[in-house]
Amino acid sequence: MGAGALRVGGFTAFTATDFPGKLAAAVFIQGCPWRCGYCHNPHLQPRRRGPHSWADVMALLVRRAGLLDGVVFSGGEPTMDPALPFAMAAVRQMGLAVGLHTACIYPRRLKELLPLVDWVGFDIKAPFDAYQRVTGVAGSGEPARACLEMIVESGVAHECRTTLHPALLSEAEVEGLATTLADAGVRNYAIQTFRAQGCADAGLNATAGAVMSAAALQRIGARFETFVLRPA
Ligand code: SF4
Repeated sequence: MGAGALRVGGFTAFTATDFPGKLAAAVFIQGCPWRCGYCHNPHLQPRRRGPHSWADVMALLVRRAGLLDGVVFSGGEPTMDPALPFAMAAVRQMGLAVGLHTACIYPRRLKELLPLVDWVGFDIKAPFDAYQRVTGVAGSGEPARACLEMIVESGVAHECRTTLHPALLSEAEVEGLATTLADAGVRNYAIQTFRAQGCADAGLNATAGAVMSAAALQRIGARFETFVLRPA
């Protein structure tokens, strides 16, 4: 297998917000086994062949040589794709940095990928025992728990981020999760407020409401070196 087998669901030529400190291209991998109601990319969930190819991405990277610092792989769930390490290696060979957005579904694959990655954005859904409420999949908190430890121990730069919808997570649960993360050694955390745009779940769109209290946000922020509240 090589990078040519990567299932590319989409890509953007330029993002200044998805890979901290880098001007990057973003590559969206096709496929995700979870079914979060707030998913902004439900078209990327089926593990089918994507509308683009790795050759399309490479052509872009060659065209934009000298203008980009890196490539961030997103999804879908990029670690689902067995061709991802080859694509990451190709990006590194071009002298570009590699970023990874992951929900941490496949710990063994993540372990193989971490040496190829310069930064990880870990989309941590909920306290581990409440994962199913968000992902729709029983036991989904366990791989996430394993990956958290792995990411922190790896020393790879990372940020944990949690999307907050009041029907899915309570303020107390988010505070508890933040405490778990800080105690595990995470230094950078973001809470992303639910955004209806792109969300196919009518129930969630109808019940989106207030974010957390200012006091709770302040308590959470005090636990991290960096903390931001931003739209998902
Ligand atoms: S893990 Fe990410 S890509 Fe998969 S369903 Fe949830 S939000 Fe969508």
